[in-house]
Amino acid sequence: MYSIDQLLETIRDRNVESLRLQFTDIQGLVKSVSIPATRLGKALDSGTGFDGSSIEGFARIQESDMLLRPDISSFAILPWRARENRNVARLICDVYKPNGQPFEGDPRYVLKRAMKKAEEMGYSMNVGPELEFFLFNMENGRATTRPHDFAGYFDFGPVDLAEEIRREIVLALTDMGFKIEASHHEVARGQHEIDFTYGEALRTADNVVTFKYVTRTIAMKNGLAATFMPKPIYGAAGSGMHVNISLFRGEENAFFDPDAKMQLSDLARHFAGGLLEHAPAITAVTNPLINSYKRLVSGFEAPVYIGWSGPNRSSLIRVPSGRGLSTRLEFRSPDPSCSPYLGFAAILAAGLDGVKRKIDPGDPVDMNIYELSDEERDRLGIKLLPSNLREALDRLEEDRIVRDALGEHVFANFMRLGSLEWKMYNNFVHPWEVERYINTI
Ligand code: GLN
Ligand code: MG
Ligand code: MG
Ligand code: MG
Repeated sequence: MYSIDQLLETIRDRNVESLRLQFTDIQGLVKSVSIPATRLGKALDSGTGFDGSSIEGFARIQESDMLLRPDISSFAILPWRARENRNVARLICDVYKPNGQPFEGDPRYVLKRAMKKAEEMGYSMNVGPELEFFLFNMENGRATTRPHDFAGYFDFGPVDLAEEIRREIVLALTDMGFKIEASHHEVARGQHEIDFTYGEALRTADNVVTFKYVTRTIAMKNGLAATFMPKPIYGAAGSGMHVNISLFRGEENAFFDPDAKMQLSDLARHFAGGLLEHAPAITAVTNPLINSYKRLVSGFEAPVYIGWSGPNRSSLIRVPSGRGLSTRLEFRSPDPSCSPYLGFAAILAAGLDGVKRKIDPGDPVDMNIYELSDEERDRLGIKLLPSNLREALDRLEEDRIVRDALGEHVFANFMRLGSLEWKMYNNFVHPWEVERYINTI
């Protein structure tokens, strides 16, 4: 945390010459404008203008003037840009309209609004995301789908190049203020995971955005492509972003109740109930790509069915074994292609609806849900997650709670862009179809 004076002092001491002012569009893509450090005073006083109509899902051309206002607590030096003690730093910004009001299409604002509702009920949400990604070889400056190594889950190699790159990513993140908890090779060839300490939802969403560009930058510096695409290879595990969630009341984890069943408070159970009820609509937000739905299939530790359980990795919500302060629900459907701001806002609103309405999640299902027959699943009331983007968008449209969490502006643009994507994909003739039909039909 910085005061303005401390910030200016650091900028002087560390010889920061320019600042990248960052924000994200509604698809989670990072946008930024660079200003010389000498212009920071003006940016803090009166904001930095930009053309909102050129940002996807922001504004129409006739009302496009927008302002960036830096959140000074997000100040961080970009470690790979240091040159002879001359530095570049970034500041994450909020987006404002010229009339001084926060812009309702700014994903960061959407999350802040959801957090305020939680605050009014006496809670703050802590989030711990687990991002998975692939490292692929490059060819002619573009990513291939050739994995950079041939190791698997938790493998340890004496001359594993990926270990060095993971380490470099971890060091860069640490320099930027992350507290790393673990990093390891994941199940698929070329697939990795790096976990950082949980924290308050807004800061953590900022961290997810940072994590992705740091990882991609360090990979590229090593001649590799890092990708957060959810399912780059058919038949191999996809990349998820499990979201570990807890509600705190002050310093206390309000999901923990030492005397209750599973040591889970009613609050935690009702939050789980809300997540289960709204899961189809949340999926549209946390799994926003055509490709997201190719990860949500049986057999790769990704959820397909809407259920909750203790330690069971086949369910949508798992309750990891940690208790006390680390009592949490692990929501396993999100993938790292989503906007973390919108994703966390949707999750929070859904969970709080469960809390308000005391939604009972039922008994946890501690069986391998993939292996149950359809009849058994019906008997247990276990429904399916949406199986494609169209279905997910339709479920979002019907869900008042998740829709309101996004707000009308983001919802409308989200539907428009998603529907367009779906239409393009459906009209396209894919190599799979040609191979399957051309010689036989
Ligand atoms: N890759 C799996 C997914 O898609 C998760 C694997 C794991 O972390 N256990 O969610
Ligand atoms: Mg993990
Ligand atoms: Mg994992
Ligand atoms: Mg996990």
